[in-house]
This record gives sequence, structure tokens and C-alpha cells, in this order.
Amino acid sequence: MSGRVYLVGAGPGAVDLLTLRGARLLGAAGIVFHDALVPAEILALAPQAQKVPVGKRCGRHSTTQRFINKRLADAARTHEVVVRLKGGDPMLFGRAQEEIEYLQQRDIPVEVVPGVTAALAAAAQTRVSLTQRGIARSVAFVTPRVGQGAAPSSWLDAACAADTVAIYMGAGDAPAIARALLDAGKPASTPVLVVENASREDGSTLTGTLAELPLLAERLGGGAAMILLGEVLRPAAAVAEQPTKRKAQAR
Ligand code: SAH
Repeated sequence: MSGRVYLVGAGPGAVDLLTLRGARLLGAAGIVFHDALVPAEILALAPQAQKVPVGKRCGRHSTTQRFINKRLADAARTHEVVVRLKGGDPMLFGRAQEEIEYLQQRDIPVEVVPGVTAALAAAAQTRVSLTQRGIARSVAFVTPRVGQGAAPSSWLDAACAADTVAIYMGAGDAPAIARALLDAGKPASTPVLVVENASREDGSTLTGTLAELPLLAERLGGGAAMILLGEVLRPAAAVAEQPTKRKAQAR
């Protein structure tokens, strides 16, 4: 038998931000391979399925990509519906292409179901439109992180060229990111929001400027965090922080 592999975007965390198509496939799946960031409530939509965590979390033990590819192909031989559940949207910073190509080379049918990517969940949480007439007509989704052996990232060029910048996987390297942006000529006063756990109940937003980015990052609680940067954020960055129950208690 040859089953079909579905790369499904789990969205940023809130279970009701998963697409209806994603939910339907989870309900039909025989096996679900999922990232570490995918919350239990979403996995609960596949009570019948075998669940295989193949999570990649920075700095922690993770299943190698080659091994994941092979497990997906093997699963398609024994299951009609194989779901590969990835945080946010599968096609942004999710190594989807490696899985798609591996499966296609073996004639295993593969489909992709989009999800709400973290940058857009962060924009929603802070109620700031990433594009605005007269202020911002371009948005760059970047990550400074490069995989082992990969070519150096040109994220800085993209970040300097775009009006609004969404930086994925950046909170852990905030001092180096701030330094690189300042050295490249971004004004120290550029408004910055750091949005942690966007769309989740414990979501929080820290506000400041590019110069303050390293300090903001130090105050994060260890959840997934998105750095947003650009003039559109000026009003939001100027008002008091939208705190969070957790942060407010911590201080
Ligand atoms: N494919 C995913 C991104 C994977 S990279 C997507 O489309 O969203 C993982 C990075 O995404 C994290 O390091 C963080 O920067 C960001 N991220 C994921 N979920 C998030 C959330 N709920 N809130 C803020 N940032 C998040």
C-alpha cells in the first residue's frame, strides 16, 4: 500500500487556529509525526493515531532530518494517512522541502496544508498590521540561524531592505542580532516588539527599541518568541507593555 503524507501546519499554538483541513486529516491519520512545539490539545485531535515526537528544539536533542524523512516514507507503506505536523506554516523555516523531495523521489504522494505562521500570529496578538499605507509596503521573514554546514545567511540584507522585519529563532541570539542590525545602519530607535507564545493563553509582548532588544530578550520566559521590528510598531512600542499574567507576577 502507498499512503499519502500530509505536511500540516499546526499554527502558532491556539488549537482553534488550526485549519479545518488540518483537523480533518488529524482525525483520519494512522500516525502523526510532530514537532516539539505542537501543543497537546492539537495532538488530541488525533486520538486514534500513533504519535511520534520528532521534535527539534534549539540546543536539545533532536531527531535528525534524514531519520525523519525515512520514518515518513516507511509510515506511508503501512498507513493510508500519514500526518507530519509542523508548528506554524510548514513552508516557512520548517525544512519542509527536504521531506517533500525525499518523498517525491520515492513516488510517495505528498500534500501540504498551510498554517498560521508565527509572525502573523504575533501581529494579531499585538494588533499591529505589518503593512500600512504610507509606512510599510514590505515585510521580510528572516532567521539569522543557519544549519550546520549551510551557507551563511543573508538575513541582514533582507532585514535592512524591508520596512517591517519578523525574525524567527532569534531570541536566543538577541545581542548579536541587535549589534548586526545597528552596524548595518538600522537606527537604534527602531521600534521593536518581542512577542512570546503568540496566540496562546500565556502570550506576552515586550516593547522597546532596537537598542533595548538584548534587554527585552533577557526578560523572556523561555517560550517561542518572535522579534518584530519596524516603524509600523512605533505606537505599539510606545505604550505600556501588554503584560502577561505570568510576567506581571514574576516582577
Ligand atoms: N514554521 C514555523 C516557524 C518554525 S521556526 C512558523 O511558520 O511559524 C520556530 C520559531 O518560530 C521560533 O523560534 C519562534 O521564533 C517562532 N515561533 C513559533 N511559534 C511561535 C509563537 N507561538 N509565538 C512567537 N513565536 C513563535
